[in-house]
Amino acid sequence: MSEGLYLVLSGPAGVGKDTVAKLLGGWISVSATTRPERPGDVEGETYFFHDRKTFERMIHEDELLEYAEYNGNYYGTPATPARLHYERGDTVIFVIEVVGAAKVKARFPDAVTVFLVPPSFEVLRARLEGRRTESAEEVEKRLEIARREIEIGRRDYDYVVVNDRLEDAVDEIKHIIESEKEKRHAVSDFE
Ligand code: 5GP
Repeated sequence: MSEGLYLVLSGPAGVGKDTVAKLLGGWISVSATTRPERPGDVEGETYFFHDRKTFERMIHEDELLEYAEYNGNYYGTPATPARLHYERGDTVIFVIEVVGAAKVKARFPDAVTVFLVPPSFEVLRARLEGRRTESAEEVEKRLEIARREIEIGRRDYDYVVVNDRLEDAVDEIKHIIESEKEKRHAVSDFE
C-alpha cells in the first residue's frame, strides 16, 4: 500500500506560499472559492470560481474536505481529487488559511502542517507594498490579519519555516516531507 502524505501550507498574504508550494514537487489541490476572479487567475488552475449558492450546495452535499470564510468569501478544498491523489501515494499540498488547516488536522491527524513566516514584519510590509495591487489601507488591514495568523501559526502548526531565501525555505520543507514519510514508514513496520 503506497499512501501519500497530506501537507498543509499556510502563511500570511505576501509571504510566498504559492511560489513555495509549486517548488515542492507534490500535487497541489485546487480550491473552490466565491471570491471574484483577479487578474492572473485561471478557472480550474488557480481556483474553481463559484457563486455562493453553488458553494453552499457543495457544503451540504459534503463535497468539501474543509472550508472556511476569509475576507467575506468562502474557500474550500474539493474532497475527491485530494483523496485520489493521496491514495496514489502523492504528497497532497493544501495551500489554505488557518481555520481550514485546523479542520484538516482534526480530520487527518497524520497531516503535516507547515506555517510560512516572513523574516520580519518589515519585509512583509515591503512585499505587500511592492505588489501595488492594494491601497495603503488594504495593506494595513492585511498586516493586522497577518499578525493574528502568525500567532496561530506559532502556536498550532507542526513546523514554522522562515521564507527568507526561497530555495532555503523549499529545501527545509522538502526535508520535513522526507523525514515525516520515513517516520511513518518506520512506525508502519510495527503495525
Ligand atoms: P486569496 O484570495 O488571496 O487567493 O486567498 C486568501 C486566503 O485563502 C489565503 O490564505 C489562501 O491560502 C486561503 N485559501 C485558499 N484556498 C483555500 C481553501 O480551499 N480552504 C481554506 N480554508 N483556505 C483557502
